[in-house]
Amino acid sequence: MSTTSEFDTIAAVATPPGEGGISIIRISGERTFEIVAPLFKGKSLADVASHTINYGHIIDPETGSEVDEVMASVMRAPKTYTREDVVEINCHGGLMATNQILQLILSQGARLAEPGEFTKRAFLNGRIDLSQAEAVMDLIRAKTDRSMKVALNQLDGNLSRLIKHLRQDILEVLAQVEVNIDYPEYDDVETMTTKLLLEKAQEVQASITQLLKTAKQGKVLRDGLATAIVGRPNVGKSSLLNELLHEDKAIVTDVAGTTRDVIEEYVNVGGVPLKLVDTAGIHKTDDTVEKIGVERSKKAIAAADLVVLVLNASEPLTSEDRQLLTDMADEKRIIILNKTDLPLQLDLGELQQLAGDTKIIQTSILQNKGVDQLEAEISHLFFDVGIETGRGNVMVTNARHIGLLNQASQALDDVMNGIAAGMPVDLVQIDMTRCWNLLGEITGDSYQDELLDQLFSQFCVGK
Ligand code: GDP
Ligand code: ZN
Repeated sequence: MSTTSEFDTIAAVATPPGEGGISIIRISGERTFEIVAPLFKGKSLADVASHTINYGHIIDPETGSEVDEVMASVMRAPKTYTREDVVEINCHGGLMATNQILQLILSQGARLAEPGEFTKRAFLNGRIDLSQAEAVMDLIRAKTDRSMKVALNQLDGNLSRLIKHLRQDILEVLAQVEVNIDYPEYDDVETMTTKLLLEKAQEVQASITQLLKTAKQGKVLRDGLATAIVGRPNVGKSSLLNELLHEDKAIVTDVAGTTRDVIEEYVNVGGVPLKLVDTAGIHKTDDTVEKIGVERSKKAIAAADLVVLVLNASEPLTSEDRQLLTDMADEKRIIILNKTDLPLQLDLGELQQLAGDTKIIQTSILQNKGVDQLEAEISHLFFDVGIETGRGNVMVTNARHIGLLNQASQALDDVMNGIAAGMPVDLVQIDMTRCWNLLGEITGDSYQDELLDQLFSQFCVGK
């Protein structure tokens, strides 16, 4: 049973583009060894043991000249990522050499891999299912350890196992319906089948509801929590950002409004990836202090899942502070009372009243006090139910899966409503089958080619 025969041999640079200490070129397919042979000076890779790393040189077969000193990993089908013969060439000659080696491989008859094509082959060759392939993509993009764990869990096949189990249950009840249709003369069979259908629909519905409950946190882990840090100029917003980044990415100055920021989009806070909204807006671009705020902050607040308002404890509350406190009244929010190392000028009583039940965290970013508490609070706000990402604990993170689960749930509603309305079993069966198909789309057990192309094209080349 060959797994490789239908596919041509593909190659691509598997490491991220740009200058690095080492680049890896991955080749996969039936003709891998044939293609590499004339290019590799060293042991014959076709003859070395599988899963070994082999020292040698890449040469240009036309001129015989050495292109780079390399290590070649040899992995023979089927125990490889794609289930095909794979050679990975680790070279260290920088961008030029990497591209030159890739060109040589292509000139020997390999085809340049499309984005995600290696993973697509792993799927098509049956090594992983669709939700696992999507987990690979999530892993590549994972922003924190926590999001990584969720993706690994999915890659492990936990979501797939649960879905497959649900589909099996549905299939059994559908088989029962078939029996009923074949022997319609027995009244009690119809009653029994209806009862069974209803029970199964409820059972599967409960599992789906449970899964969908994890979707909101899953989405945060996957896409990041849109966070706006707002406050008047000079209260300490960029100092806070620096602290969260644990490195000096933003430049802090003493003069209000002179700060320039070049900062990353994501900050990892207690395992929660914060996606910072409108960081440019953290600083006013002109000198009119009162003007910056309100318009721009309003937009940032509207776009955010979490608003962090920074106030200066060493000054009385201003009308702008009060305005911001009102603007963000409906949002998930945290108030930072900064500069507590200086004499307190702010009316705490008034702040407490304006803040309602919003948590107020006192900080002195200058003295590195209170930032831990902020990190704990953010983590708590989003994970107070205590997510477990260990084995067997499944979380849905993927918008496509969430969409399909919602549709499957709708199909089950139709089943239950149909039964309640006294519809004949063979009609109810149609909705149950629809649910079965929709769940199958999650794992790729019922997939369409366009879906595959669309999914895998989101990968980077070389994966
Ligand atoms: P932003 O304009 O809100 O981003 O404020 P910055 O982060 O640029 O800080 C403005 C000034 O306040 C800088 O000189 C910071 O060093 C200073 N600063 C920030 N946090 C504290 C603090 O907790 N205590 C004191 N005394 N100064 C602080
Ligand atoms: Zn600043």
